[in-house]
Amino acid sequence: MASLRDDGPLESFATAMAALYRAWPQMSAEQRRQDLQAAIDGAAGAALKPGWPLRCQVMGPGPGAQLKCDKGNWRLEMDEAFLEGSNAAGDTWLDTVAAIYHEMRHGEQWYLCAQGVLAEKLPLPFGAQPADPAKGVTEADICAAMGLSDVVARHAAQRAAQFPHGLMSATRSWYDSIFGAQSRPKRGLLETIRHGGLAGKHLHRPEEQDAWDLQRRLRKRIKSLLGTALRNPAYAALRGMFGG
Ligand SMILES: [Zn+2]
Repeated sequence: MASLRDDGPLESFATAMAALYRAWPQMSAEQRRQDLQAAIDGAAGAALKPGWPLRCQVMGPGPGAQLKCDKGNWRLEMDEAFLEGSNAAGDTWLDTVAAIYHEMRHGEQWYLCAQGVLAEKLPLPFGAQPADPAKGVTEADICAAMGLSDVVARHAAQRAAQFPHGLMSATRSWYDSIFGAQSRPKRGLLETIRHGGLAGKHLHRPEEQDAWDLQRRLRKRIKSLLGTALRNPAYAALRGMFGG
């Protein structure tokens, strides 16, 4: 079964971002949002995961507060200031769009944990038991114990038999970190963890290492697709200074 780590979804997102970068200066904020949403849905579809609605809003100041994956409502939240801004400092723009994929991956990690539970390869977290032991683990149990939306729980339940065995070991390490003995048993806290720069204290966690690895891979790929079209920040500053 496909995942966001595969070349298909990654290449689809990278290609869309390279095109978006080139067109960005001529686009309205709403057009930019629509193109980002289409790229997110394209990669999610290629990875056989439910798409993430992108909600753009004013978000608080502080490192890493510009973007997050809200797993309970299954959506990505982004500071709308990004859509209003220029992409003149190309590297900063690249960091932000690559971070979108990082957040999508966190959603996918949760999805795979839920799918693993539904496939009876992992237990319900925090000692929870199925509401009806005769039926086994249901979508409703997943919503209650893991805090995932019913739409996502249903999507995973319908595909429980397709749980990717090649991802069992990685999924188990994320599960242990997010829901197992290494976790904090309050989902609310987990959901509000926001990812800042490399100094974040959660980076040693396996789900972070995995998401950062993917983010770096994607960033490198977009950069390579853009080549010299990527604007040099120093050059952009000079152009601004001389009205270019
Ligand atoms: Zn992260």
